[in-house]
Amino acid sequence: MAHRLLFCAAKRNKLTSLLILAQVAGNYQYITKECLFCNSTDEANHPVLYHKNFKDENLNAGVFSARRTADHFHYEMVKCAKTGLIFSRHILNDDALNELYKGSVVTFGEQTQFIQRDYWQPIANHVSKWNKKRALDIGCSNGFFLEVLKDNGYEEVHGVEPGEEPKAIARADIRDNIYTGFYGAGLYPDNHFDLITCFQTLDHLSDPLGMLQNMYRNTAPGGHVYMIMHNTRALQARIFGEKSPIIDVEHIYLFNKENLPELCKKAGFAVESVFDVKNGYPFSYWLRMSPLPLKGMWKGVIGALGLTNKILAINAGNMGIILKKL
Ligand SMILES: [Zn+2]
Repeated sequence: MAHRLLFCAAKRNKLTSLLILAQVAGNYQYITKECLFCNSTDEANHPVLYHKNFKDENLNAGVFSARRTADHFHYEMVKCAKTGLIFSRHILNDDALNELYKGSVVTFGEQTQFIQRDYWQPIANHVSKWNKKRALDIGCSNGFFLEVLKDNGYEEVHGVEPGEEPKAIARADIRDNIYTGFYGAGLYPDNHFDLITCFQTLDHLSDPLGMLQNMYRNTAPGGHVYMIMHNTRALQARIFGEKSPIIDVEHIYLFNKENLPELCKKAGFAVESVFDVKNGYPFSYWLRMSPLPLKGMWKGVIGALGLTNKILAINAGNMGIILKKL
């Protein structure tokens, strides 16, 4: 969650910049997305949930201070009455989005070890029964999870990452197996990987079903897919509504614990489990990220209680899913 917030913020600023550039060039290119289940975008079954909160002419006002770029922009977002799928109806075209992701920069910093543990924990008890020859992480960033997989017995680990910068800082024994670019058909052989992982990526894609179908082809029979992403029915999302960080210009399709498995089944997978993901960080970290006043005082309090480096695990609104190719 925390790294995701950083990740989201960095991308949001980039997308805002992109929108400005596009406007300067008088060159907005929007495409219309359909419901992944109804294959339509009819208003009756997909009413507007949140109206687009930026206007093209606003972006042209020349007021893009740092403060302005921190605005919480989102497209028009609609919700499927049947499945609860929340999606952005009119989005920038794929070329614009691809350009955006190529320039993405991710800062994990001191949180890396906690993210590694949080993502590993849900499969830690399963992998002893799984084949561990080849694994792939899609949207692997600097390869932080490939490190975990390799250190836990996977013989050959591969990653795909559109950003060029993360690869440069990947661990030396992993770097050469990171492909810079976009995941798609033909990049890897069919029936190849025993495990494919994908974290906080599916809801950024304009064609998530196509992505899942490619993953299905690349997975070896008996192999697994493990993903983590936002859950639109998580408590935080329901409480904050439009103000939730997940209602954001970078998210195209947003899922819940019911419609995500349905989409995965459409791609051919059997669903093994869907679950909440906890994020554990030291008390000192949560305090630093919290909106609490008098942080100095609280720091003293948690220090006095001996909690500074104790881990507090919170359900931060993410869900995980484990799939199998039978
Ligand atoms: Zn629908």
